[in-house]
Order: sequence, then structure tokens, then C-alpha cells
Amino acid sequence: MTGDAPLYKNNVLFLSQTFFIKDNQAELLLHAHKYDFDIVFFDEVSDFVMAVQNERDSSLFVIDLDALHNMQSDMQESRKTLMLGELLQRLPGGQSYVYLQSVRQGSRFLLQQRLVDSNCLAYAEKPIANDVLVDKLFNLFVQKKRGDLVRLMYLGDAVGLDHAWLLERRVEVITHDDAQSLHLRVKELQPDIVLITDAEYQRTEAIGRVLKKNIEADPVREITLLQRQPDACLTRRAIASGFDAILLMTDTDVLADQLVNRANKIRVNRDLIGKDRATGLLNKIGLQKKAQELIRQAAREGRPLAFSVVDIDKFKTINDTWGHYFGDIVIKRLSLSLASHVGDGDLLSRFGGEEFVVVFWDCTLDEGRRRMDAMREAFRAIPFEVKRGEVRHFSFSGGVAAYPEYKSENELFLRADAMLYEAKEGGRNQICAQPPAHRGASER
Ligand code: GH3
Ligand code: MG
Ligand code: MG
Repeated sequence: MTGDAPLYKNNVLFLSQTFFIKDNQAELLLHAHKYDFDIVFFDEVSDFVMAVQNERDSSLFVIDLDALHNMQSDMQESRKTLMLGELLQRLPGGQSYVYLQSVRQGSRFLLQQRLVDSNCLAYAEKPIANDVLVDKLFNLFVQKKRGDLVRLMYLGDAVGLDHAWLLERRVEVITHDDAQSLHLRVKELQPDIVLITDAEYQRTEAIGRVLKKNIEADPVREITLLQRQPDACLTRRAIASGFDAILLMTDTDVLADQLVNRANKIRVNRDLIGKDRATGLLNKIGLQKKAQELIRQAAREGRPLAFSVVDIDKFKTINDTWGHYFGDIVIKRLSLSLASHVGDGDLLSRFGGEEFVVVFWDCTLDEGRRRMDAMREAFRAIPFEVKRGEVRHFSFSGGVAAYPEYKSENELFLRADAMLYEAKEGGRNQICAQPPAHRGASER
């Protein structure tokens, strides 16, 4: 295959017994690639240790403890098994590891304790199905990464939360001081957590219900009561009226730590729900949420948006001719190619199998069409070696629509999709965008 960027976002270094992993290797890799990571296998501790030292921080390191049986200790006489302690000692510090152990190992609490205290990121018990292991490793990658900003809206008197400290931990605090307009602000800014002090809650008890009962309210959003002192009656009423959690205001540092923990959970949930695992891009659900936010922001700031739908040409033929696995690689390359052309303020989504959506911030229809055309050419230029010595080029078609000509995410999508249809009809490998027809012409 071709191209400079690595095909998969993350790496797993895997130390394992050769015979255990041999049959599993191909299958593990196949699953891993669907989750945007690659696996490098090792059966020698020394090779593994060296590789760990040279690896990026974002990688995961997995050790099958059965590898112990396979290894010989340097220090002891030749056939002696390398003891667990010695193995753990040889692992580079400053990294954490995922241990795979047998049920028997897991049932020995002292061994277990030793493991979790030895730079352990997680442990798993064998036997474990390949797809399950890959799924669990994927979750660890999601938890490990820095991730998106989580937004916290705060109603009530300041409690001395350190906003800058929270922001460093990817939590943005927005304060609001009027209970009666809180729901409007929530609708506008879509915070992930709403924190309401007990004093404010007592003044306006309907607030929780107003926020919760809105059918459009984000189901992942957490409404939390901040209590200065324990008050069982108030707690009971708040929980009954839909609050998700109660936090006690005993210590600002503890409160801040708790908020960061909550934010991490929310961020992981959002990633698992709203992102495509194979490419790490937004999926349909994630795109809808983000596009709606972007449209609101565009409305506030009076800026245009260009919304484009992209679909690979004759993809069925690609699959049929060179196989599904090759088809997946083409999708992967396209996602990397598109990603290199979008900016921080733009959105990129794998909307479906071989369909992508790009939303350009502060961009007119014309400019959007021009940028999509550059992306089309860049993808078209990628050489794919379908067989040794045989190179092919593939293409995609695209349709573009723009805000404010089309107002909602749904209208923008339908219009861009209609333009995509035109591009396909027009012979593929092209981008179509037309300004909306004048009223007289379109509503005859
Ligand atoms: P057109 O130029 O009109 O778009 O022709 P096409 O063959 O690309 O037609 P269409 O877009 O309808 O076909 C999409 C095909 O993509 C159908 C499906 O089998 C395949 N596909 C969808 N998702 C995946 C995927 O994740 N991996 C692979 N390899 N194939 C997929
Ligand atoms: Mg399609
Ligand atoms: Mg297609």
C-alpha cells in the first residue's frame, strides 16, 4: 500500500507466547484494524522492552503472563522459568501495562495485588475472545486520549472552583446567575454537566424538571445538585425531580476532582456513542450533534457554512474485484486524506460505509466547492497498489450545500445529497454545488 501517513492511529505492542498467538495473530489484526489500531507481536522480553522504550506514549503495551513459561531467565540456570517479579522488573517504568492472566492466576489475590501495583493499566482474564480483547483495548485507547472539552454550566454563587485548573483538565466552566433563563442558556450552549447550588434549587424547584423534560434535551447531560450541607429532604426532592447526582460542597479541591472524573466518564461515553471506531471520525450521531452546534454558532456570529456529502465511486466494484479487506483500506486512506484538508473549526464525519460528510466553518458555497474539489484531486492522486506492480487510482463524488441558504442540519444534508446525486449522474469524480433556484423558478 502507499502513502506517508500511518494507516492506523494507534499501536499495541503485544508480548506473548508464540504458540498461543500464532493462530490468533491474523484474526486479532483484522479486528484491531476495524478499531483503528495496529498490533506488533513479540515473543522475546528483550525485544519487547526495547520496543516499549522507543514507542510513542499513546501506545498500549500488553503482556500475556503465560509468556513467563516460555522464557528463560538470564540470571538463573537455563531451564528455570523467568519469575513474574523478574519480568515486571524488566519492564520500563513510567509506562503502564495491560496484563493477560489465567483464571488460576487471577484467583490468587497476592499475585493479583502484585500485578495491579506494578504499573498496571488494566488486566484481563483468559481465555478471552479476540474480538472482545480488541474491543477492551479500544476502550483503553479512548480513555487514554486527551479528548474533547467537556462543558460545565454552573448556576449559583461562586464556590471558589478554579476555572483555569479545570480548563487544563479539559473542563470548561460557564457561570450563569439566573435560574429562570438557565434552560435557554443550556439550549444555546449545550453543556455536558449542569451544576445547580442548593440555594438556587430551593428558590426555583422546577428547574430540574424544566431541563429534563425537554424532549430535545441531550440524554447524556448530567444535572447535578451541589449541596453545602447534607439535607435529606432536599436530596430526596431533587432526585425525584430528575437530578442525576448530588455533590457535597465540603472541599473545593475534592469537588473539582469529582467534576474532572465525571467529565472523563462523559467524554468516554460521548466518544463511544458519537465516533466511528475504524477511523476515529464522527459517526452519524456525533455529526448531527456537532453540526447542530456549529449551525447555532454560525447563526450567532453571522457566518456561512459549507456542508458536503462525499461518496466513493464504484466502490462495490472495488470490493468485488480486490476484496472487502482492500475496500476497507481504501476507506481508511480516504479518511486520512480528507482529514489532512480540514481545519480545527471544521467537521469531518464517516457518515456511513463509504460516505463522508465535511462541514467547513465560515465558508461559502463557492469556497466549499473549491475546497472539496482540491480534496477530490488529492484523493484521486493516491496510488493504490492493488497487486504487485499494478497501481490503480480511485475517486469520489461530492455534493455541497451552504448555510444560511439551507438552515438546518437535515436540510443541508438533503440538499448536499441531491447535489451528490447530480455529480454521480454527471459522470462521477466531480463535485456539484448550485445556488438554490430563485423562488419563481423552483416553486412553479
Ligand atoms: P456509486 O459510484 O454510484 O457510489 O457506486 P458504488 O458501487 O460505490 O455504490 P454504493 O455507494 O451504493 O455502494 C456502496 C457499497 O459499499 C455497498 C457496500 O457493500 C460497501 N460498503 C459499505 N460499507 C463498507 C465498509 O465498511 N467496508 C467495505 N469494504 N465495503 C463497504
Ligand atoms: Mg454509497
Ligand atoms: Mg459509492
